[in-house]
Amino acid sequence: MSFSDMPVDVGPVYEGERIRSKQMYVELGGPKIEHHFELVKVREPGDIEDGKVNLVGPDLSDMEEGSRHPIGILVECAGEELEEDLEAVFERRVHEFCNFINGVMHLNQRYTNWLRVSKKAIEKGFNSFEQFGTILIRLFKAELPIIEKCQVSFYTDKDAIEEPYEMAMSTYEKRDERARGLHDSDVDMFYGCVLCQSFAPTHVCTITPDRTSLCGSINWFDARAAAKVDPKGPIYAVEPGECLNELAGEYTGVNEVTKKRSLGEVDKVYLYSGMEWPHTSCGCFEAIDFYIPEVNGHGIIDRNADHKAINGLAFSTMANQTGGGKQMPGFNGISLQYISSPKFQQYDAAQDGLEHGLEQTVWMNSGLKERVKEFIPEELRDLIATEKDASDMEELKAFLEEKNHPIVSTWEEEEEEEYEEYEEEGAMIPMGTQQMTVPGVGGGGGFRIILKNCKVHAESLIIKRIDTKKKRRKKK
Ligand code: SF4
Ligand code: ZN
Repeated sequence: MSFSDMPVDVGPVYEGERIRSKQMYVELGGPKIEHHFELVKVREPGDIEDGKVNLVGPDLSDMEEGSRHPIGILVECAGEELEEDLEAVFERRVHEFCNFINGVMHLNQRYTNWLRVSKKAIEKGFNSFEQFGTILIRLFKAELPIIEKCQVSFYTDKDAIEEPYEMAMSTYEKRDERARGLHDSDVDMFYGCVLCQSFAPTHVCTITPDRTSLCGSINWFDARAAAKVDPKGPIYAVEPGECLNELAGEYTGVNEVTKKRSLGEVDKVYLYSGMEWPHTSCGCFEAIDFYIPEVNGHGIIDRNADHKAINGLAFSTMANQTGGGKQMPGFNGISLQYISSPKFQQYDAAQDGLEHGLEQTVWMNSGLKERVKEFIPEELRDLIATEKDASDMEELKAFLEEKNHPIVSTWEEEEEEEYEEYEEEGAMIPMGTQQMTVPGVGGGGGFRIILKNCKVHAESLIIKRIDTKKKRRKKK
């Protein structure tokens, strides 16, 4: 495969390329544009013209410098061995292949896709979707040889994109709905994915019926189809092995594979917990489930939220703390589909005597709440606050008390006294709510580490007496 006829270079070496707003010529999709999507469809061979690129709307050369446009990318492919279950897996590769182009940055997936084309690329002559589509077609056929024919259509017109956008949304919903009918106990094979290791080298996704991948694009059926056609590829089968903890979703097989694939970094994963041994997060999660120590509850913010979460942090700020392939108790990247699972963070809820993970969810941004409304048990729907109900912790506490949210039952009355007692002794803060601020890191109130229900092992421990004068002054 050669790209010597193209004005820009193409290859995996450009995958990590970032295009900041100053370097960008145009932005396609992203949070400021209403309709945008990317979709792969498997078609009959006769319905496809191999190598064809269609464009509906303005071309790159027609776009003004600094402008933003809708973008729809529809990749249609055919091949004897292709089946519908492979569509989602191929679709995930759009991200990778766009990023192979020097001067193109691609983020996210499905209807949250976000692209930028750099000024340099345009200057070099990369100024048409014909070139863009041709590169994608060549990559799809070379990297996935079971694709025999491939054509690509781009939609950049704000009206013309509506119809294919609706088609894409109903395809995503159809895939998700099918996956919602299946649970972890119904299957004897799980799957894993390491596609995101080019950005987060220790990140390993485990994909089970109850835990759709955190990017939201690969469910259990999709992963099964991918592992079948390319067992040595980035998506592979994982024998669950022995279940060590049903509530937490801990499996020997998952632990072993995660350890191997993360090169020893992560050796234990609780699939249904965001607080203990949580699943790692790369960067393309659809939403973040975050712990709110002030109310002992959890909030969930999705990528589309254009305001700060109840803890004062924007999605992007929290995403920096959540992602990178590390296990971050208290910050867990999740898919929206996982919220619909009865297993959703069930381990964390159970630690507080609650039955359902959503019983510990106290806040969601309103856009997300609307989107997942049908997944929230009816009796909880009005009990979860949004930015419209509470703008700070005091208002949130008052809201939860007024609604008698289940989390209120976990607030201990003696809490205040307990703090007092520990302060008197001048030694320790209860582990359940310990917070630490590292100056200069993160936004707002600094970097917060939450240790909840955990054991701390240390080789040595230094206990310092707190200055009693200071303590007395504080108590006055
Ligand atoms: Fe694969 Fe997970 Fe990345 Fe999705 S988030 S592409 S499932 S590694
Ligand atoms: Zn990712």
